[in-house]
Amino acid sequence: SLKGKTALVTGSTSGIGLAMAIALAKQGANIMVNGFGEKDAAISAIKAFGVEVDYHGADMSKPVQIQDLIQQTEKRFGSLDILVNNAGIQYVANIEDFPADQWDAIIAINLSSAFHTIHHALPGMKKRNWGRIINIASVHGLVASSQKAAYVAAKHGIVGLTKVTALETAKTGVTCNAICPGWVLTPLVQKQVDARAEREGMTNEEAKIALVSEKQPSGEFVTPEQLAALAVFLCGPDASEVRGVAWNMDGGWTAQ
Ligand code: NAD
Repeated sequence: SLKGKTALVTGSTSGIGLAMAIALAKQGANIMVNGFGEKDAAISAIKAFGVEVDYHGADMSKPVQIQDLIQQTEKRFGSLDILVNNAGIQYVANIEDFPADQWDAIIAINLSSAFHTIHHALPGMKKRNWGRIINIASVHGLVASSQKAAYVAAKHGIVGLTKVTALETAKTGVTCNAICPGWVLTPLVQKQVDARAEREGMTNEEAKIALVSEKQPSGEFVTPEQLAALAVFLCGPDASEVRGVAWNMDGGWTAQ
């Protein structure tokens, strides 16, 4: 049980982050919600498990706001024990057409934000000698796809940051690991389904199948709940010696 622990999940108003927050609340953890989506729905879904919930609207591209997010979480709940770096965005274009401001935004939100949260959260975790840092990377932290230069660079970067954090905490009760999902049908991916349906004159259903089966041998989407179950395992006592891994759950994507 994670009763008495506090979890911050960045970008937890939708998709994978929301599923992570709900699964951790189910284990008894208090939750700090963050993100730009429908926060009231997220808060009430989490509150249903009888835990303490609060919301902080930090923009994860802004280091000063990230520092405040960590400080407010520690102040509100007394500690920050589980940090899930999940907030992320995507942009798809060839490098020569890739807008520089999209590159900067993706590096800031998908990579640098995790440096800033870890930077501010680690002292408290080390002092209490317990902590779980889970970085939501991607199969794109392990392999590449065309048209995703910024995303692939950021996700490879976060796998590297995960390993360094794991080494620097190896002799402590703090662990740091990355989860590398394949295709998950969230709003982030629905946009890519819509683009494909439009481009190839397909229905939504046809575009979903085309998208997933191109890369993912199972032909099935991974679900946010399956990823959340892995995160719960990583928070448990049996995972105390899992350190610095980049754990894929990808329907066979990276086995090819
Ligand atoms: P999503 O769009 O459903 O959720 C993203 C969350 O991040 C939302 O809560 C959004 O409000 C928040 N967010 C975006 N920009 C933010 C900012 N500047 N500050 C604060 N919050 C911000 O997407 P998702 O698919 O659930 O993605 C979650 C994570 O999982 C991302 O890091 C993504 O790269 C990763 N991922 C997703 C897939 C997939 O197939 N969906 C696969 C691999 C990895």
